Amino acid sequence: MYNITVIPGDGIGKEVMDATITILRKTGIKFNFTYAKAGDDCKKETGTALPEETITLIKESDACLFGAVGETAADVIVKLRRELDTYVNVRPIKTIQNVENPIDFTIIRENTEGLYIGEEQITTDGAIATRRITKKASKRICEYAFEYAKKLGKNKVTAAHKANVLKVTDGLFKEIFYETASQYPTIETEDYYIDATAMYLITNPTDFQVIVTTNLYGDILSDEGAGLVGGLGMIPSANIGENNGLFEPVHGSAPDIAGKQIANPTAMILSACMMLNYLEEYETAKNIEEIVIKTIQEEKIITPDINGTASTQEMAEYIASQLRKN
Ligand code: ATP
Repeated sequence: MYNITVIPGDGIGKEVMDATITILRKTGIKFNFTYAKAGDDCKKETGTALPEETITLIKESDACLFGAVGETAADVIVKLRRELDTYVNVRPIKTIQNVENPIDFTIIRENTEGLYIGEEQITTDGAIATRRITKKASKRICEYAFEYAKKLGKNKVTAAHKANVLKVTDGLFKEIFYETASQYPTIETEDYYIDATAMYLITNPTDFQVIVTTNLYGDILSDEGAGLVGGLGMIPSANIGENNGLFEPVHGSAPDIAGKQIANPTAMILSACMMLNYLEEYETAKNIEEIVIKTIQEEKIITPDINGTASTQEMAEYIASQLRKN
């Protein structure tokens, strides 16, 4: 029995979470789902976007499934990643549709520092934001990237930074990247400036295998990556630390399409697969992934963002109906 904290959050977070739970309930695995509040709606209701009991519940659970939050993202998900010390954000960018040159790379994003520490202040002539890069966080994210590459049989890791301008902070990140790389002599390494990386992702996306980068750069590159493979509805992510795992789609609460049952549940479902792998339920994760791929490639029961006509829940129910019976 796995204790899972479920945070649907705001907007389409609720719809894609319902869809995903529909599938997980059909796997035959015993889950104890405990629903918890966080986000804009929670703030309106309770006065706080991230109640203490939600944090405690996640810490006591085996894993957390997180939908999306809207305007309160900085107070909820950014804070949670720090509180839980989920120092790595793994974002696999993979083409699911049948295409000639499929894209398949993973962004390993540092999740606890950089510009997202939220230390901003007003000054007499404007405002300042602090960008923190530590040796410890850089070392563990680079090590994670190389270990990830090794485990998945990838043979190249690319660092994205801006060390020519941010000489001290990104200079440190780059130095630690190559220091770490020296322990993995069989893995090819390269580094690009973040702006060049953004362009190469468009011009040569199949050249990349694993990209390791700091917090804000990783956030931006992953939305760009989503754009390469069918949009934000397709990309899952895992926030992993020593003691906690929190799994969420890369997209936000998408207020423009919320409540219409047209959100693509793929990103949330694949995030749940990343959770199943984290829980070492490899067979079930693989089974769901294969059905998601087949469903999208069949182009029948899929949502409008990928040229279908099915609703969020219809797509999920179809996937659930195809599960191999245990
Ligand atoms: P937030 O303020 O919560 O970040 P946002 O609208 O700024 O919301 P996203 O939620 O990431 O940012 O969405 C950006 C756009 O991508 C949305 O306008 C929506 O049309 C599209 N989108 C995001 N997720 C999905 C999805 N699961 N299915 C279909 N379209 C999506």
